[in-house]
Amino acid sequence: MKGQIFIDIICKRFCRYFKNGKEEMYCGGYRVLVENFTASELQQLADMVCETNDIKNHIPAYDENLFNLVCKSCDFRIDGCDYRDNRSGPPCGGYIMIDQLVKG
Ligand code: SF4
Repeated sequence: MKGQIFIDIICKRFCRYFKNGKEEMYCGGYRVLVENFTASELQQLADMVCETNDIKNHIPAYDENLFNLVCKSCDFRIDGCDYRDNRSGPPCGGYIMIDQLVKG
C-alpha cells in the first residue's frame, strides 16, 4: 500500500493519471523514488521541479536509460502507458520527477 505522504508529493502533485482507489498498483517512477529517497528529500525535489518547469507541458524526450530504470517495473504497463507506447500523453509523475533529478 502506498504511503499517503508519497502519494501527495509524487502522484497528486505531478501525475496526470492519478486516480484514488489504485493504491495497490505502483508505477515504476513511484517505486524508484520511494525506495531511494525520504519524504523530506522528495518534498524538496518537488519544490525545485515546480519552480523551474511548467509540468503540464513538460514531456521529456525518450530516454532508454530512464525506460530501463523507471518503466520496466511499472505495474501500469500491462494496460499500456500513453507515454511509453507512443508519447500521446505525458509521463507519470514519478517519471517527471526522476527526469528532473537526473538532469540536475
Ligand atoms: S512513464 Fe508510464 S510506463 Fe513509465 S513509469 Fe510512468 S506510468 Fe509507468
